[in-house]
Amino acid sequence: MSIDKSESLNFLEEIIENDLKTGKHGGRVLTRFPPEPNGYLHIGHAKSICLNFGLADKYGGMTNLRFDDTNPVTEDVEYVDSIKDDIRWLGFEWDNEFFASDYFEQLHQFAIKLINKGLAYVDDSTPEEIAAQKGSPTVPGEESPYRNRTVEENLRLFAEMKDGKYKDGEKVLRAKVDMASPNMLMRDPVIYRIKHAHHHRTGDKWCIYPMYDFAHGQSDSIEQVTHSICTLEFIHHRPLYNWFIEKIEIFPSQQYEFARLNLNYTVMSKRKLLQLVNEGYVAGWDDPRMPTISGLRRRGYTPASIRDFATRVGIAKRENVIDFGLLEFCVREDLNKIALRRMAVLNPLKVTITNLTDTFHELLPAENNPEDPSAGLRNMTFSNEIYIEQDDFMLNPTDGFFRLSPGSMVRLKNAYIIKCEDVVKDGEGNLTGLKCSYVPESKSGQDTSGLKVKSVIHWVNAKDCVDFEVRLYDRLFLVENPQNEEGDFKSYINKDSLKIVDNAKGEQALATDEAGQYYQFMRLGYFCPDKSSSKDKLIFNRTVSLKDGFKKK
Ligand code: ATP
Ligand code: MG
Repeated sequence: MSIDKSESLNFLEEIIENDLKTGKHGGRVLTRFPPEPNGYLHIGHAKSICLNFGLADKYGGMTNLRFDDTNPVTEDVEYVDSIKDDIRWLGFEWDNEFFASDYFEQLHQFAIKLINKGLAYVDDSTPEEIAAQKGSPTVPGEESPYRNRTVEENLRLFAEMKDGKYKDGEKVLRAKVDMASPNMLMRDPVIYRIKHAHHHRTGDKWCIYPMYDFAHGQSDSIEQVTHSICTLEFIHHRPLYNWFIEKIEIFPSQQYEFARLNLNYTVMSKRKLLQLVNEGYVAGWDDPRMPTISGLRRRGYTPASIRDFATRVGIAKRENVIDFGLLEFCVREDLNKIALRRMAVLNPLKVTITNLTDTFHELLPAENNPEDPSAGLRNMTFSNEIYIEQDDFMLNPTDGFFRLSPGSMVRLKNAYIIKCEDVVKDGEGNLTGLKCSYVPESKSGQDTSGLKVKSVIHWVNAKDCVDFEVRLYDRLFLVENPQNEEGDFKSYINKDSLKIVDNAKGEQALATDEAGQYYQFMRLGYFCPDKSSSKDKLIFNRTVSLKDGFKKK
């Protein structure tokens, strides 16, 4: 472990370095990532993963993956598997894998210990009565009529709760803390509730389940986590976290809070993302428009780009909203270094080169990636029939349009200069193609023509190109913060967030490249094959355009 003193530390690094100096946990750093397996991970979780694993890496520590599976109703093994996949894909490996449900026995013993110390009681009040007893932040709460049950009575009733004698909601176990505390969470919080539900790991063994506050800190403590990092909403839970640890007399894990990541033009709560999936607004958790890790991956984001994003966002103690454009900036940075350059045309317009014969065939070597010479060369082919983009031609050019129009010249990238001699129309007068001449002395890299043209356009050889489908994406929501708008957040969905182009043409190499490549289609953006793409039907997702083309709506 080498610590560079000159760099500026974030507040968590400062805390850890100080703890290391004072020998607080014997020089040990153990963090944890504690997802609830009730959905797929999103970019906010990625931030937390990079933070927890990153701190442990930096200080020679370890990180546990702990599934916070104390709520039997919403959890599923599908989610457990996807979470592990996503963490590994991001480039991290946990030191231990735990499930909070493995601690049910121990947590139950902790509850009995509290009862024995006179610090927990069984309450028969209804949820409404309990809420009413709590008072308000300015008005002290009232004690429950059941608060002073004897230890023996509490032990007996709690055992009966566990044995299934009562229905859901009939009784709860509450910690006896302080009904007058200015912190509402300290006003005798519920720590166990009855829920006759099947649990994805413990089956029907339990019908009482610990509440979040009674499971989380204790699980940290059981694992001897040194730095338990969570998001800011939990700051008011910290006194309770500490109270349980002190009263149960267990390892003093400590909680620290940082601001959660918020991104504009999307939603990030798993509950909301689940609605998008279940109600068919998207094609699944890994739909490329989703802010999930699996969605970003399918969209063509790289692990390195997401880690870079997490670093650039930094760690704050105050909530803020990060612009989606920063995520796009990070992926462009990375893809620029690694993406293979290819030519593709999304809306093809046929061009016939009039001064070439039908048998003409030329190989034009082109760099796979000018940013990375080790990526080598591929051959593009050139013939008397090519496709260019419809947008690169205008019959009546407007001012400042320097691409093709009748009589004008452009350079075909990595090939020759061509001149538009004539247009081809069908019987109804629709434009169906162009007739162009090419300038033999204008070959890229060996140009002796002396001609100056103002534009370079992309193209593909019509004789050997491959057909494919392209999926172009836009923001999933029309407003910056859909959950803060009036009404249902789903009414702000951008109905044009997916556009399918089914007649794209690409250069031959696309058919023979190894699977799983990242691409830059010149002038069009970064693309990757969709998971449903096959040799018989190539399908590409646009990850991001080349420049920030995003306009605020
Ligand atoms: P959601 O509200 O999206 O369901 P959650 O907080 O309930 O999120 P958990 O599975 O409980 O999801 O979270 C696991 C870890 O990820 C927690 O430590 C949590 O603090 C962290 N986390 C969740 N969302 C974010 C976010 N937007 N930014 C940073 N960390 C987050
Ligand atoms: Mg949660």
